[in-house]
Amino acid sequence: MIEKGLLIVLSGPSGVGKGTVRKEIFSQEDTRFEYSISMTTRLPREGEVDGVDYFFKSREEFESLIEQGKLLEYAEFVGNYYGTPEDYVRQTINNGKDVFLEIEVEGAKQIRDKFPEGLFIFLAPPSLSELQNRITTRGTETEELILNRMTTARKEIEMMDLYDYVVENDKVENATEKIKSIVQAEHCRIERVKQRYQKMLEVD
Ligand code: 5GP
Repeated sequence: MIEKGLLIVLSGPSGVGKGTVRKEIFSQEDTRFEYSISMTTRLPREGEVDGVDYFFKSREEFESLIEQGKLLEYAEFVGNYYGTPEDYVRQTINNGKDVFLEIEVEGAKQIRDKFPEGLFIFLAPPSLSELQNRITTRGTETEELILNRMTTARKEIEMMDLYDYVVENDKVENATEKIKSIVQAEHCRIERVKQRYQKMLEVD
């Protein structure tokens, strides 16, 4: 029997650097997680590729996926839908591979209810002013959107309690290293390895 993979959920306020940390994790050769590409109704930013960064969908297509129950979670964030394809996640985990999600906090909350055995990691900013700085210097958002994102971020930080671990994103390399260590430790949890050793004892 194949041991199931982990569902790793990386979440945290918008602008905290989830995307950058995720890209750093997946640029490293020893990373063994599978990235779950999300669906979104937001328009592609410059350089973004359909099927690589996101599966870009129309609102109608997205709402049809919701109706068909194809999404493990979904949320409306600053006027657009974002969601995780359920079949891909379940199949990959059942094949013994770890799946990595990088999503906003409302979606993470839904997964906590639906998939409590997941590993929930909250990426926190060093401070609120630093967060505003990062959102502003990214330069892709209007002033109104920035304010909107900061209001959302305050509410999101209050939801930290729902997570298993908090990683401060002071530096991308530090956060990346911590996340990989957490996953490694999670694989050594007694609940995960017990069955394997029980089987070993039965054989001997
Ligand atoms: P962006 O538009 O900057 O790419 O993403 C906006 C927010 O949506 C980010 O916080 C990102 O983590 C989140 N996000 C990306 N994919 C998903 C998803 O599948 N589900 C949810 N709930 N949030 C997502």
